[in-house]
Order: sequence, then structure tokens, then C-alpha cells
Amino acid sequence: MKITIASGKGGTGKTTVSSNLTAYLAEHGKSVVLTDLDVEEPNSGLFIHGKIKYDQIANKMVPHWDSTDCTYCGDCANVCNFNAIVALSDEIIIHPELCHSCYACSELCPTNSLPMMPERIGEIKVFETENFDFVEGRLDIGQEMAVPLIGQNIDYVDENYDGYIKLLDAPPGTSCPVIEASRESDFVILITEPTPFGLNDLKLAVETMKVLDKKIGVIINRYGIGNNSIEEYCKDENIPIITKINNDKAVAQCYSRGELIYTQIEHFKNSIEEIAKFLEGIR
Ligand code: SF4
Ligand code: SF4
Repeated sequence: MKITIASGKGGTGKTTVSSNLTAYLAEHGKSVVLTDLDVEEPNSGLFIHGKIKYDQIANKMVPHWDSTDCTYCGDCANVCNFNAIVALSDEIIIHPELCHSCYACSELCPTNSLPMMPERIGEIKVFETENFDFVEGRLDIGQEMAVPLIGQNIDYVDENYDGYIKLLDAPPGTSCPVIEASRESDFVILITEPTPFGLNDLKLAVETMKVLDKKIGVIINRYGIGNNSIEEYCKDENIPIITKINNDKAVAQCYSRGELIYTQIEHFKNSIEEIAKFLEGIR
């Protein structure tokens, strides 16, 4: 079972929930793996302290220009939908950071002057704890495209953790990285907070998941602040509320110390138990 934990906006508690839920499930005998797909700024490792077990370089394929037979026809620049190639009268300039690795320029070049070659974009690291593994994708500084690394992270988990519960900690927002982190999942948990901003971003996230035809449930974090508009919205949209996590300074204090929270705060543990029970029900 693959479950994405996402949110329309950052700072709603996605990483807090995913890291605590993973540790809780592992403690209760489940085979579970967590992967941090917020590859521009992975931070699950702040709460899960594991030993490094494996490290691999992540590449994406980009065209490299070989001038030997190039006729400067310009077809490569014309076919690229992402403006990653500029064809000058005496030079072909490639911007790898804009390339989506679609192979069109390479395949269509009449003189085979654009062979595709791997270029490093980041790293995938696997950490082991006492009872579960944690996989982290980290984009190199200066790299702009998170999607290829997110996809490779998911592929790594699929290939190496068959039969496990796979929790995918998605990047915030509703754009391509979140879609990549959600599109193959069996269920998407959306975390929000009961504020007008929370509601606005939740609506965007729900619409995105509807387009992807995903089953969804909502967790309301910092319950007790704001108003009940999230509950009303979920009722109107027939979206289950999996749990409500009370707003509590002690939770924030645990978070700021980089500690797991469910082992220390009873109401938080109850919420994590509710999430675990809910997930049992959808299997
Ligand atoms: S399509 Fe090939 S031959 Fe034409 S300009 Fe590009 S690299 Fe040169
Ligand atoms: S592989 Fe695709 S995206 Fe990349 S430069 Fe070629 S045409 Fe553009």
C-alpha cells in the first residue's frame, strides 16, 4: 500500500505526521518505509535519526551536442517544448536545467548530433533505524527540476520494499512535484489547519486530487485555532476527517527539539493511532 501525505501549503505538519506515523507503525510490527519527497528541502531526517545504509547518485538524461556532423538546421530547438535548446548559426546551446529528458531533440536530429547522457541532479540516501528504513531524495543546489528525482525515489522504494506500507512525504503545494508524489498512490492524506489560508489551500489540493482520481482523507492539525470551516467543507465534499490534532505548545516544543512526539504526548499518540486505524480500514 502506498500512501502520500500532502498539503496544499507548507508548515501544516506533514513531516511531523509522516515521521511519527512511520515510527508508530514500525513499533507495532508493521513493515513500513518512509520516503521524503520534498527533495528541495528534505527534513524528515531531523526527526528520524538513522544510520546511513546506502547512497546513490541520481541522474537525469540530457542531450549533449556533438558539433562534428551538425548541419545547424535548428530542428532540435524547434522541437523542444521547454526552450532548453538555442540554435545559433554556429553553435547549439543546451540548458540542461530546463530539459525534461523527453528525448525528442535527440531522436529527431538528422545527424545524431545530440546523444543523451546522464547528468547528476542529486542523491538518494537510505537510512536505517532499529525497525524501519527511511529514504531521502536531495536535489543538488542549483538544480531546478524536482520531478525526475521524486520519480526515481519512488521507483527505488517500489523496487526495494515490495509488500511494505510505503509512506510518501510529499512536497507542499499543488504543482508538478506533488502530482508526481501522488499519482501512483492508493490513498492521499491531506493535512491542513483550521484557518482561512488552510481552507483555501486545502480546496486547491482537493481539486488536484480529484483530477488525479485519488481517494483522499483530511487531517486537521492545530485543531482549536481558527474556525470550523474545514469541517464544514469536508462534510459538504464528503471527505473523511481522519483525525484532529490538538493545537498544543508542547507539540511545537517537541518538534523544535527534533523529537518524535507520539512517545511523549498522549493526545498526539491518540491521533496517530486514529490514523493507523483509518489506514487499516482502507486496505
Ligand atoms: S537537429 Fe541536429 S543537426 Fe540540426 S541543428 Fe540540432 S544538433 Fe544540429
Ligand atoms: S530532451 Fe526534450 S526537453 Fe530536453 S532538450 Fe531535448 S527536446 Fe528539450
